[in-house]
Amino acid sequence: MTDDVARYPDGTRDVSCREAARLISFRFDRELNHDERRELSMHLMECLNCQRFEQQLKLLQQLSRQYASGAKAPDDAVS
Ligand SMILES: [Zn+2]
Repeated sequence: MTDDVARYPDGTRDVSCREAARLISFRFDRELNHDERRELSMHLMECLNCQRFEQQLKLLQQLSRQYASGAKAPDDAVS
C-alpha cells in the first residue's frame, strides 16, 4: 500500500487512502458519524485499493467473531 497520496486542502470532500483506511479500521470499533461515512463511501466508489482493504478487514472480522463465539482461541502462549 502506498501512502504518497496528496492531501487535499480544506474544501474538497476527497479523502486520501490513508484517511480511508483509518475510517475503515474505525468502523470495526465504533460507528462512524455521518460525515465519516460519506467520505469513506465516496472514496471507496473510486478507489479499488481501499475496496480490497475493506474486504480483507471484513474477512478478518468474521474470522475473529467466529473465534469469539465458537471455538476458543488458543491462548496458551500468552505471557
Ligand atoms: Zn483509497
